[in-house]
Amino acid sequence: MTVANPLADATVQAEREALTAALLQAAAHLAQGQDAEGILRPFCEALVAASRHIRLAWMWLGAPDTTIIRPAYVVGPAHEYAQALVLGADEATRSLSPGLRALANGRPVMATVRSDPTFAPWRAEALRHGLEVSVSFSFGEANDNQRGLVAIYADQADYFTRLGLNPFVAFQHLAQVALTQAALRERLNTLATLDSLTGLLNRGAMQAALEGHHAQAQCQRQAYCLLLLDIDRFKLINDGYGHVVGDNVIRDVGKVLQEMLRPEDRVGRWGGEEFLCLLPGTDCATGNRVAEDLRARIMDHTFPAGTVRTVRATVSQGLACFPTDGRNIEELLNHADMGLYEAKRDGRNRVARASDRGRSLFATAQQLEAALTSGQVRPAYQPIIALSDGHIMAKEALARIITPEGVLETEHFIEAADRFQWLHRLDHDMIGQVIEHCAAERKARRPRIAYFVNVSIDLLHHAERVQDLLDRITRTTMPCCTDTDAEKPLVIEITERQFLGDFDAVRRTLAPFLAFGIRLALDDFGSGYSSFRYLTELPFAFVKLDRGLVKRVRTAQGRRILRGLQDLAGDLGFRTIAEGVEDEDCADALAAIGIDWAQGHYFAAPRFEDTHETG
Ligand code: GH3
Ligand code: MG
Ligand code: MG
Repeated sequence: MTVANPLADATVQAEREALTAALLQAAAHLAQGQDAEGILRPFCEALVAASRHIRLAWMWLGAPDTTIIRPAYVVGPAHEYAQALVLGADEATRSLSPGLRALANGRPVMATVRSDPTFAPWRAEALRHGLEVSVSFSFGEANDNQRGLVAIYADQADYFTRLGLNPFVAFQHLAQVALTQAALRERLNTLATLDSLTGLLNRGAMQAALEGHHAQAQCQRQAYCLLLLDIDRFKLINDGYGHVVGDNVIRDVGKVLQEMLRPEDRVGRWGGEEFLCLLPGTDCATGNRVAEDLRARIMDHTFPAGTVRTVRATVSQGLACFPTDGRNIEELLNHADMGLYEAKRDGRNRVARASDRGRSLFATAQQLEAALTSGQVRPAYQPIIALSDGHIMAKEALARIITPEGVLETEHFIEAADRFQWLHRLDHDMIGQVIEHCAAERKARRPRIAYFVNVSIDLLHHAERVQDLLDRITRTTMPCCTDTDAEKPLVIEITERQFLGDFDAVRRTLAPFLAFGIRLALDDFGSGYSSFRYLTELPFAFVKLDRGLVKRVRTAQGRRILRGLQDLAGDLGFRTIAEGVEDEDCADALAAIGIDWAQGHYFAAPRFEDTHETG
């Protein structure tokens, strides 16, 4: 066949330079290509823009096992040709198509429209669009999860022969590297968003999904539900069967959730054995039904534990509905969390939506949070006196929140602080203020007394806050303590409830305080189990007798118990402090038994000691 207007040598040179420049420019953007499409599209565009002889470029992207290919992105004056193009639709075109052959063997395939037999099915149509030759490049390896194809068409049969394929092949190599990088980036991204044990969204990705959906639901005024789901008594499964079985149970619960929920629902692993489900377009009643179905299904499920045994598991769930239970994500999550807490408290294996009580706890928690942030949590000091002579020996710092409406006492917000795990913040804030107050008192040369502060296990779990307090004690009290001051004025009160967890851990965390000379008081003794073991496990300098026990001083039996305790105090070397003393009779009776110190309204109410009035 004769070729119209063969390219002159000078033209070839100019073409080569133009194409090379265009490809170089496209290559410069390769590194930014987020995906294959972002890399191959500019490649096609650069070619068509660089030469009027290149009349068409198209690309396709798809799975490696795709058999039928339709151009996905088409540029150039002959674009109509590609828009109607289908490769591999039948047996004949499958074996013929240059594009499919390029995909199969990974090398560029050039084909002239008029003479190449493989062009037979498309010849007439190609010529009608002024296309004389094509070259096809494939991208991606056969085992990649995505492959790409680019086909370029010119209006002269010898165009690619005379120009040489080198610039294209060089670009193909560069693009290949960029594609591999983009695929790796995507893999990394997947790893960063999926939980490795369950394959569900991890917490970060779930939070992102939630934010995305919330914005949409808000715009469209559409209801949705959140289910926060926690495996009951999971520690028993772990302890009884081992972590491998525990892991399997977590994985299987995840599977059950995914199987039961709709494709548009999202499930994420929210924590250790905690899942969060997002149910779009679901009202409260439906959400509750779904949660009950999930609960029942998991209860009936048997989880394999090794080859022969199986385990059962149940789940508790907190349900929160948008917009009824909260306007923003934080409120909804808190609501779901509160519901979960109530479901656990009421016996587990159940679904709960937070009650009014829960909601009021949440409101209180918000109040506490605001107070902590704005510095409105203040210590009120209640004197502790020696029963023998009425001298003030110490003061207990009690947390108060100052609001425009008045002062809130500890009882009002302590449960909320516990529930929302803010005790460490509350304790840290309070102890910090007491340290400063104590240092100021010393500087003003006021009488040396001890300051009792309450410490929760939550604070002890926050090593960085413990360290910060120790640092502050060192900084602020050292100048006013002489070297012989082995006993520091601060006394830490802990309740026996704190020990119910890990005894050794409590001891370890307290060690730096004790080493520093800070003394320890056992709080609320007589209110719970009151095991004497606690008294021997840690070097308590004080035991504070619960007000319930103190009241019993009016009975003969109560007096016997208190006398016994006082004897023990003498033997073990701690001081006793009676709490909640409200009248003279009680104070006298306690003094008669020999109880060392006491506090209560009879002696003095808690008071603010700086600019503030009575608490
Ligand atoms: P409750 O009914 O109150 O939820 O009791 P629980 O024992 O399920 O809850 P708790 O939160 O006290 O204990 C959860 C345990 O789950 C503690 C932790 O060691 C364990 N855990 C957390 N993540 C994993 C995990 O990925 N695999 C395994 N096997 N255990 C985990
Ligand atoms: Mg659990
Ligand atoms: Mg848990």
